[in-house]
Amino acid sequence: MRLLPIEQTTARRILSPVSGFLKEAGFTHSLTPARNCTYGCSYCYVPTMRIRAGLKAQDWQHWGEYTTYKKNAPELLKRELRPDQLIYCSPLTDPYQPAEMNEEMMPRILEQIYIHPPKLFVLQTRSVNVLRDVHLLQAVAEHTDLRISFSITTDDDRIRKIFEPRCESIPDRLRAIAALREAGLNVYATVAPILPCEPKLLARLVVDATVNAIIGDPLHVRALKPRGATTREAALKILDHYEQPQWAEAEFQQRLLEVLDHEISELGRSFATGPKGFSCLTQTQSLAALELRTPKAVKSSSRSIRRLAKH
Ligand code: SF4
Repeated sequence: MRLLPIEQTTARRILSPVSGFLKEAGFTHSLTPARNCTYGCSYCYVPTMRIRAGLKAQDWQHWGEYTTYKKNAPELLKRELRPDQLIYCSPLTDPYQPAEMNEEMMPRILEQIYIHPPKLFVLQTRSVNVLRDVHLLQAVAEHTDLRISFSITTDDDRIRKIFEPRCESIPDRLRAIAALREAGLNVYATVAPILPCEPKLLARLVVDATVNAIIGDPLHVRALKPRGATTREAALKILDHYEQPQWAEAEFQQRLLEVLDHEISELGRSFATGPKGFSCLTQTQSLAALELRTPKAVKSSSRSIRRLAKH
């Protein structure tokens, strides 16, 4: 992959108290290590938020063409972390975006999470790059409730290539999820946004990949959300080009959610969307749910489970 420019800035704070969607889902803070995301997905809602996401004009005008790291993030975290925080990382960039492989910011962030553990730390990613930090993540998971919410946006990699060409393939992501679970880490499959797909196949794929509730969300549409973050124009143009505009129409999306819900329920798993869906990431999990991990993973994380059982 072509290396996109990486810039540096100094931030005043690194943990932001959350409001709206994330607050409703039960989080207290968000952590965004960089401004702009070198995955540059066609549908990304972040650049549509403009200054509300703390972006500069050049970020939303050149979304995905470079990124700016908050170079003092680890030092800030050291000061700002508290044991009662429920942190979502990140609502405004993928923490394992391609630039991370050069910047190596996440190991320094995870080190602080390890030393000053919050109550919950959720990583939202779609990146196989997260595998680089598996050993660190295992160590962090011994100190805090670490959950990895892994984005799977469609069952069809041809569709993925059209909407998110810089992201890793769906099979590679599924392999990454399997490797994370094999390492004893707690992984959720998040179907957000839901790109054109075959719902039955997508349901089977995400249910087979994980043991947790499935989280989802369709593309943002103005008919349901007149203001705030929405789908980037680039994705709407793609839908029009392929004569598939219904995927960004409220009525069609409602039916799609019902079908996905039905298919996922048939497979014995729950499915939820919006803040309710993302609240699965903040809810306390039962010991039974933890034991549903792969046998090898259960063995490798048995110390943590035994410790949980004592509480
Ligand atoms: S990975 Fe996430 S934050 Fe980055 S461009 Fe894609 S949707 Fe936006």
